[in-house]
Amino acid sequence: MPFLMGQNVYLDSEKLSPTDRIEPAIKHGTLSIGFIGLAEALVALCGAHHGQSAQALALGKQIVGHMRELCDQATTQYCLNFTLLATPGEGLSGKMVIPDRELFGQIAGVTDRDFYTNSFHVPVYHSLGIAQKIDAEAPFHEFCNAGHISYVELDAPPGPNWQATDKIVRKMAAAGLGYGAINFPIDECLDCGYSGVFPAECPGCGSTSVRRIRRITGYLSTVDRFNPGKLAELRERVTHR
Ligand SMILES: [Zn+2]
Repeated sequence: MPFLMGQNVYLDSEKLSPTDRIEPAIKHGTLSIGFIGLAEALVALCGAHHGQSAQALALGKQIVGHMRELCDQATTQYCLNFTLLATPGEGLSGKMVIPDRELFGQIAGVTDRDFYTNSFHVPVYHSLGIAQKIDAEAPFHEFCNAGHISYVELDAPPGPNWQATDKIVRKMAAAGLGYGAINFPIDECLDCGYSGVFPAECPGCGSTSVRRIRRITGYLSTVDRFNPGKLAELRERVTHR
């Protein structure tokens, strides 16, 4: 990494000469442990996830709090930056459920879908209000010191309704979310430029040549670029009110 080290981006890289080994500098980076599927784990353990039950939420906090403690202990023990990451598991989300289903069978709410739920999120297919979703996920943000995000899904772009956006952002801040986002779909006609949300042909000109933009694993993308696991997740998403 001649550029990173040469430009002293890493701590202590300023002490290295061009032919030195980079361990003394690269040890200052982070070693992150990510997790997915808290919701499925809670269904397996208590029969409900943290968007459904206060008991599940309490157990979820214990589990994620325990993982964070292990990271902190390892940080002290090895003098390296171990951190806990709330990850969407872009590839793993769809891949890991397949061997688990072979091993444990099809368990409702655990292995019966083609994806595992992102980090500590309430499952995308569970219907609940915006405030309830924020309250169920907010307690996990402080544990995940390598990164965390919570989403609420709107059924359409908020457009000029800035008061609604403002209300959601204030609720997120008050609940203790470190990073919150508001998702909404956008469909765009490639023939006439009409933009909105339409399931089939363009309401403006009847064209079926439509670009569909959705947010997945934190990135805006057109639907044709999603992997099978994330496409399965998208199909099951419900919006929050
Ligand atoms: Zn059109």
